[in-house]
Amino acid sequence: MSDKYDVIVIGAGPGGYVAAIKAAQLGLKTACVESWSSEDNKQVLGGTCLNVGCIPSKALLEISHKFEEASHDYEMQGIIAKDVKIDLAKMMERKSGIVKQLTGGIAGLFKANGVTSIHGHGKLLANRKVEVTDKDGKSQTYEAENVIIATGSKPIEIPPAPFDGDYIVDSEGALEFTEVPKRLGVIGAGVIGLELGSVWARLGSEVTVLEAQDTFLPAVDQQVAKDALKQFQKQGLNIVMGARMTGAEIKRKLVNVSYEDSKGKQEAKFDKLIVAVGRRPYTDNLLSEDSGVQMDERGFIFVDDNCKTEAPGVWAVGDVVRGPMLAHKASEEGVMVAERIAGHKPQVNYDCIPNVIYTAPEVAWVGKTEEQLKAEGEEYNVGTFPFAANGRAMAANSASGLVKIIADAKTDRILGFHVVGPQASEIVAQGVIAMEFGSSAEDLALTCFAHPTLSESVHEAALAVAGGAIHIANRRKKK
Ligand code: FAD
Ligand code: AMP
Repeated sequence: MSDKYDVIVIGAGPGGYVAAIKAAQLGLKTACVESWSSEDNKQVLGGTCLNVGCIPSKALLEISHKFEEASHDYEMQGIIAKDVKIDLAKMMERKSGIVKQLTGGIAGLFKANGVTSIHGHGKLLANRKVEVTDKDGKSQTYEAENVIIATGSKPIEIPPAPFDGDYIVDSEGALEFTEVPKRLGVIGAGVIGLELGSVWARLGSEVTVLEAQDTFLPAVDQQVAKDALKQFQKQGLNIVMGARMTGAEIKRKLVNVSYEDSKGKQEAKFDKLIVAVGRRPYTDNLLSEDSGVQMDERGFIFVDDNCKTEAPGVWAVGDVVRGPMLAHKASEEGVMVAERIAGHKPQVNYDCIPNVIYTAPEVAWVGKTEEQLKAEGEEYNVGTFPFAANGRAMAANSASGLVKIIADAKTDRILGFHVVGPQASEIVAQGVIAMEFGSSAEDLALTCFAHPTLSESVHEAALAVAGGAIHIANRRKKK
């Protein structure tokens, strides 16, 4: 038995590393255990998000978007860029450089804040003891007043298409292709499938996305989802709805995929197949039998609204617990738990967590969709404004999509804020702030927005809620 800590965090992704830094800032003696190793056996911090998730995917999305613009959209704007080519190796090098810089930054933050970093696999034993086993199998046990589990998630592997790491890959493999696949199959039209499909489509792949459900992006407001689907299809993404993949076989350097849709059994051939059917909580070899921590029926660690597990002094945050699998949700929970351990009583406002799909157009939203409100029988008003009527969007050659604001019919309080279009990921922050402050649509309508900006569409959508938009004919929608 060695040092005793106030807090031991297991996992150094955005849930764990943020919790550890916050706990240390609050004066708690804190250690963070992370098992991820680089090829030269050095500890890697940052988890899925920094290493194989948010950051590398956004690096590839940004670069591939620039490539597509230069290849297709420059000429009509008077820019002559002949023979635009992609140097895939260099693109990957840049992506890896960004990842390295950011993950190295966390090591620096740990040092600056006095967080002890422990390299190895952590296992929670009874009474908040954590056994850490290194690569060579050597174990050491630490003790803590509080343990925060932040072990994240892993891609789901489905029996019809086991990953082989070369032809049939998960999201991690899809960030590492060494050539642009001619024909690329993607299973699952969720956030990850659409983002990664977009990257490779922009680089020249013929992309087919097979999605088992009949509704495109069912969690997204359907007016927004339909607008996005139209634009993805216009870009050449072949999205097949109601298509359940039933098998995948690698034959003569091709993946032969069988699937079923409304017309019956179908087949398709791809050079590579990305399986993006969701992620599962990662708890492998994490809990001893007497740890006292319970799981729910889907394998998530069971926690209450404040991320407390059933075991006293043990907390869990991020992808390993219920709720959306998002980096910023994980970090919010990490901060809340650190604060709670230090004796404060903050809460995460789960109603104000934004969601973003970083395709082009981007799709972003916070709060409720019209479909949810209808199902709940709520009375609401809707204001929308299309980017087609926004001067800045036109100037930027990205005048498609819309902003949609849904407000309570009686109180005018904003209930939902939805964007499909340019920089939706940035614009949605305005909705998050408005909702966090409990503002009404009228509050936004009475706010002065700079001209010309994409955000003027937020202003106009807010005005439209009461039928007062200036730059579009008002078609106030009341429910
Ligand atoms: P993770 O980031 O998964 O970190 C868990 C860490 O725990 C890992 O480093 C793991 O090695 C370590 N660990 C696990 N078990 C142990 C153990 N027993 N002992 C020691 N260490 C252990 N989210 C967004 O919000 N925005 C995005 O744009 C976005 N894009 C994504 C793109 C892709 C391709 C993917 C795959 C995910 C994306 N996500 C995005 C989701 C986001 O990455 C996750 O929600 C986030 O990383 C969850 O954080 P976490 O701290 O809970 O877990
Ligand atoms: P997400 O959970 O947002 O990452 O999305 C994953 C998507 O994959 C969901 O929309 C599922 O409906 C879809 N999916 C799961 N299994 C299959 C399958 N066998 N064939 C096609 N789509 C699938």
